[in-house]
Amino acid sequence: MIKYSLRCADGHAFDSWFASASAYDSLAGADRLTCAVCGGGGVEKAMMAPRLAGGGGEAGDTGGRPLARPASPAEAALAEFRRRVEADTEDVGRRFAAEARAIHEGAAPERAIRGQASGAEARALIEDGVPVLPLPVPRERQVN
Ligand SMILES: [Zn+2]
Repeated sequence: MIKYSLRCADGHAFDSWFASASAYDSLAGADRLTCAVCGGGGVEKAMMAPRLAGGGGEAGDTGGRPLARPASPAEAALAEFRRRVEADTEDVGRRFAAEARAIHEGAAPERAIRGQASGAEARALIEDGVPVLPLPVPRERQVN
């Protein structure tokens, strides 16, 4: 069974279950779908609006972000971890490898940074004794 959000030509929105995606396609193709509200035709899948997390509200809103609610305890823990890392580190983006090396060599102020490094860059850092840690950070909030 599969559930679709549908909408008729008059804009009534309703949900309907189908045996399969192809069952929906054949009914829709034969124009045999009718609106659950008005009985009219012209029913098609409702457009799902993309849910873009807005910027803003960086600091202190660790409370519920309804648009980005973690799906599992593991994801919640990950999200919390990510928030802490983001709060406690400076984002140096693509300069991460160079910056980490500079800090390690005392050429840059000692601080916690985060950013992106290629696998080769990360390996080279580790081989040179630079303490780096891969973070499971989703790409969505990367700025650089
Ligand atoms: Zn309708």
